[in-house]
Amino acid sequence: MNIAVVGTGYVGLVTGAVFADLGNDVACVDKDVAKIEGLRGGHMPIYEPGLEELVARNVADGRLSFTTDLGDAVRRSDIVFIAVGTPPKASGESDLSAVEEVARGIAEALDRYKVIVNKSTVPVGTGDLVRDLIERNRRRPVNFDVVSNPEFLREGSAIEDTLRPDRIVIGAPNQQVAMTLLELYAPLERPMIITDVHSAEIIKYASNGFLAAKISFINEIANLCELAGGDVTQVIKGMGLDPRIGAAFLQAGLGYGGSCFPKDANSLIQTGAALGYDFRMLRSVVDVNRERIARFVGLIQKVLDPLDDRVIAVLGLAFKPKTDDMREARSLEVVGWLLAAGARVRTYDPAAMANAQRMLPAGVEYCQSSYDAAAGADAVVIATEWNEFKLLNLERLRQVMRRPLVFDGRNIYEPERMRRLGFEYHSIGRKPVYPA
Ligand code: NAD
Repeated sequence: MNIAVVGTGYVGLVTGAVFADLGNDVACVDKDVAKIEGLRGGHMPIYEPGLEELVARNVADGRLSFTTDLGDAVRRSDIVFIAVGTPPKASGESDLSAVEEVARGIAEALDRYKVIVNKSTVPVGTGDLVRDLIERNRRRPVNFDVVSNPEFLREGSAIEDTLRPDRIVIGAPNQQVAMTLLELYAPLERPMIITDVHSAEIIKYASNGFLAAKISFINEIANLCELAGGDVTQVIKGMGLDPRIGAAFLQAGLGYGGSCFPKDANSLIQTGAALGYDFRMLRSVVDVNRERIARFVGLIQKVLDPLDDRVIAVLGLAFKPKTDDMREARSLEVVGWLLAAGARVRTYDPAAMANAQRMLPAGVEYCQSSYDAAAGADAVVIATEWNEFKLLNLERLRQVMRRPLVFDGRNIYEPERMRRLGFEYHSIGRKPVYPA
């Protein structure tokens, strides 16, 4: 099939490359000229395991191309995917201006029947909005359908998730257009569910809202463990083995971040409000998440008081491991608070330092390795659970630090081991330990 994917970010680029790999002719469109030029030169705008090889292979085979010309890509396609960003507005609502701009562009280029697929995460009713915009702006009276096909990939395993999704949700206005999408996805041999457009739009938000709730729930249990003297990691093991609960997303820590959960939870609350519904549970989920950083930094402040001129090594900046994405990363807040309290911050992240430098305030020192960051530090803070940090030579880490003190916001080490290695170790939902 001939496909255009509009928006060449984490979702659009991976989706486009995978569709090309399945044998389709794919044009990836973006309005960011530098991004498209870079991609034409073989430079990936994002870090995603396996992406560079996948793109190179399909470009070399002539199935994948990159363009800034939306009209041309639309005219050459039977199916047009919208995968542009839908960032949050200050109010918490989703900013749909990019989706609207693309819908108008598609309308102007519409020359024959096409299927327009919304892959961006958009509030319920956006399919109707896109349909309406195309109807009002098309130059010729040609027919088209608008489908909702929400994306569930996770950054860091985006290719694997796109090749082997748990489920493919197709919110289609009629059976015929549903069949077109079924055919496109058939080679993946994964479970597909066909729904109406509104339900598909809600499935995406309901899924992310639920996962955010799971994270906030276990973080509240962690708070309780701290007060009662329990160990949240043991509680998680005991809960997670129950198949009705499951261990995924049951990790106590600094709370959820990233480009999806915070914005999707807020957007769902706003959607409810616009419909006259108060989503009380999700409001609490957001509140609990917001409190995580103040609580964590409060602990650091209490232990190190005063923070003035203390050197703190923050290990991990990306919002989660295996990505360079810094959007809504919890480290941003941690570092911001530490700097505001007068601390000197040295950092290291295996993939996100370039993006972090654009987002963190001046004065942060960027280091070449964990040991480099920890050299002479009064404390190490773990903000992202990269595997690399789990495998650190902790003996060496302790030796380079001024004071053997670790605040682990992701519970990546065993307290007893840390005690034996001579650290004072504070983690989430577990008792602190002190050197033997
Ligand atoms: P992104 O910011 O990485 O990429 C969006 C791209 O769209 C950018 O390259 C931008 O230049 C381009 N763009 C914006 N306006 C445009 C326009 N008018 N014409 C052409 N291109 C335009 O975003 P992303 O992370 O890929 O997310 C895209 C959508 O998918 C969002 O709605 C997001 O919520 C959703 N989503 C993201 C993930 C994820 O893990 N990143 C997972 C599932 C769903």
